[in-house]
Amino acid sequence: MNKVYLTGAGPGDIELLTIKALRVIKEADVIIYDRLANPDILKEAKSGCEFVYVGKEDGRHIMPQDDINEVIYQNALKHKCVVRLKGGDPFVFGRGGEEALYLLERGVKFDVIPGITSAISAPAYAGIPVTHRGVSVSFRVVTGHESPNKKISQIPWENFKSDDTIVFLMGLHNLPRISKKLIELGKGSDYPVAVISKGTTKDQIVVVGTLGNIVEKAKDVPTPALIVVGRVVELRDQLKWFEGND
Ligand code: SAH
Repeated sequence: MNKVYLTGAGPGDIELLTIKALRVIKEADVIIYDRLANPDILKEAKSGCEFVYVGKEDGRHIMPQDDINEVIYQNALKHKCVVRLKGGDPFVFGRGGEEALYLLERGVKFDVIPGITSAISAPAYAGIPVTHRGVSVSFRVVTGHESPNKKISQIPWENFKSDDTIVFLMGLHNLPRISKKLIELGKGSDYPVAVISKGTTKDQIVVVGTLGNIVEKAKDVPTPALIVVGRVVELRDQLKWFEGND
């Protein structure tokens, strides 16, 4: 029976791939991958493995999700081992759930191989623990894609008043609106924020600032990038360990 492996590729550093992900990549007859998956991973595939690029840029699909679902399905009809390789974790803003449902409805078997999400690993490589005793007892991973100006928001902004950590994915282009919204909620304009670009890779750039100045400071930062808001950002001063490109 053919099977699809909805596989997390990790955040960038190839060594953050799981052993299980590496195993299916080596066995794959076809690998269907996104831009965010490190292309070096594809070198691990067996000879004769087919590669299908269904590019996705910064949360935006170049290929509509419906078409991606169909590409996966069609490949599952042809190949025994189909790897659907996605950046980070397939179920963290990866639309892996939608792909799984599509396959389920068509009777195709699938496994999910979780990946290390950028939401925690990029902060970790920046020396920012997402929780820290006495500083932050929880963290939220939030889409930054939705405009904070939207009349009816699905994001519970009112819950963001505490010092708990907020990680925004897909939010760089909305950074001006996000920081304005958080200041309006009562966080001071001197409240700590970090923007982490290309986290866990040698090109990693970390920009540390405040809600008041981060927009200016991070204006030239390339994607993919995420935003960390919280007092934990201040720990980077002491905990910075990884030499990126900044
Ligand atoms: N499933 C992925 C997230 C997909 S949404 C995961 O678990 O990591 C895409 C967003 O993830 C990007 O817009 C960016 O905010 C973030 N992202 C992915 N890789 C990143 C990286 N290496 N460094 C910083 N942010 C990253």
